[in-house]
Formats: sequence, C-alpha cells, structure tokens
Amino acid sequence: MVIGIPRGLLFYEFDTMWRNFFKELDIEYIISPNTNKDIYKRGASIALHETCLPYKIFLGHVDYLIDKCDYILVPRIGGYSFYDRMCTRYQSTVDVLQNTFRDRDIKILPFNVDYTSKETELASCIEIGKKLGKKRRDSLRAYIIARQAVNTEAQIKENNLKNALKKDNSKVLLVGHKYNTMDKYVGEPIEDMLEEMGVDLIWATDMDRHDADEKSKEVTKTMPWTFNRELIGSIVELSDEVDGIILLSSFDCGPDSMANEMIIRKIKDKPILNLVVDGQEGVAGMETRLESFIDIILFKKRRILND
Ligand code: SF4
Repeated sequence: MVIGIPRGLLFYEFDTMWRNFFKELDIEYIISPNTNKDIYKRGASIALHETCLPYKIFLGHVDYLIDKCDYILVPRIGGYSFYDRMCTRYQSTVDVLQNTFRDRDIKILPFNVDYTSKETELASCIEIGKKLGKKRRDSLRAYIIARQAVNTEAQIKENNLKNALKKDNSKVLLVGHKYNTMDKYVGEPIEDMLEEMGVDLIWATDMDRHDADEKSKEVTKTMPWTFNRELIGSIVELSDEVDGIILLSSFDCGPDSMANEMIIRKIKDKPILNLVVDGQEGVAGMETRLESFIDIILFKKRRILND
C-alpha cells in the first residue's frame, strides 16, 4: 500500500503533518518531485484553459503520481472556523480530479477539513487511518505526534523570522501563497535572483498565523479568504521592518487580484512590486523588473540614511 502525495496546492500547508502521520502509522508514501517544466506541461494540457497556474501545476503532480501509487491523498479544505473562507478551488479538488482522471481509475484518499460540516483534521486523519486498516487509537496517537511536529516547525519559523529581521541587510518581504513562494518552478527562481542581488528575503508566511489574521483587521474586516487575510496581517505587522514588499501571485487568481489591489491602495509608505507569474513564460523578463525594484528600495534607503 503506497500513498501518493502531490507536491502542489495545499501540500505546503500540510506536508509536515502528513509525513509524520504516515510515518507513525508505518504507511509508505511517495511525494511527487519538485515542480518542473514537464509537470507544468502535464497539468496545463489537462486543465481547462482558465484554470489558475497552481491548479494546473497540481494536476501535473497528480498525473505524475497516478500510476505509481495505490491512493492519491487530496486535501479538500472548506475552512477551520466559522470565519474561514477558502478559495473554491481548495474545496473542489476531489470532484475535479475524479472527473479529470475518470478514465485512469484514480483512487483518492480525501483529507477533508470543513468547520461547517464538522470535519476536523483529527476526524479526517482517523477516517484515513480507518480506510488504510489502522485502529482508531493508533491514528489518534499518530495525529497527536504529527500535530506536535507542525507546532514545533511553526515555532522554528517564527524564531527564524525574528532573527532575520534583526539583520542590517536590505530586506524584502515576500508575500504570496506557499504553493507559489515555495514552489521550485514558480517561487524559487525569484528567491535566487534576489539572493544574487544581495537582498535578504523575509517570508510573510513565517509569521504566526493567528497573530497575522488578527493583525489583518487593522486594514480589512471584510476580506473573506483566510490565507489572504493572513498575508495582509503579515504586511501590517512587518512592513515597518522591511525596505520593500513583493506580492507574488499567479495568473488568473481571483482572490489574489482583489487582495493585492487592496494592499497596493492601503500600504502607501513602502515600495511594492506586484509580480504575476504565468506558467508559459515562467520568470523570464522578471529579472529586469526585480533589478529596478531593488534599485528603488536601495535608493530610498540611502536617502533616508543621508537625511
Ligand atoms: S487562491 Fe488563487 S491561485 Fe490559489 S487556488 Fe484559488 S484561484 Fe488558484
């Protein structure tokens, strides 16, 4: 029995939990490789034309895994609390995959989290364990250990964030969904370019999620999407400590286009670069825009220091 985990979409939210959960239950799993041109092309050839880039990439990862495992683990996330709203694409993954890959006999292991239907992470893990022949108490124990690993990781990230902010280097806050910023095909080339330009990257998603959500209320009380609210809260908290902000989003993303518009209108005292990545062109042409942006923030910094 092998579980396939697609390295796309909400993978970066749950990978630590899933790896630990399956390891504790002694269940074998494979994770699709880092996104590359081939995986993007696989997904783009299957997806409907207007599908957003991360969803195309996600479909490419599923396509890669489908003949290599017994089940594909797929998150279907509706929300963690009454106030949570998620992009509808997170909720539709299971149905979309079942229809898209119906000729290839896809077997899906859903990871359902939805406050409104009382589906919690724990209940979902116990259900997954049951399907894979594991006892409830073993799944419960595995979940508790997996959750502890997630909490430890979050604490480490927060500490790293605090240490990174203390450095004297020029700093840029990178704001975007983890499946964009952490993806090898989408986010990493941008990270590499900035590193080469001698700028330290600060990751908005390293901030404590609850604190970020609370902070977002200083700018908006009506933004519906939880992840976008958390990103906005990170900007509110961290913008005074960085020299510039990069908004990284992908082509055809409704929530990001609305949230980014709001950020650009409300955050007036910091240079902001709005980067929209398109799968076809990747990061080609972005180097020039990044260089100009970095020139601007260094110029501003020098002027402030000289005043
Ligand atoms: S939030 Fe945007 S990028 Fe993410 S899945 Fe939804 S539409 Fe796609």
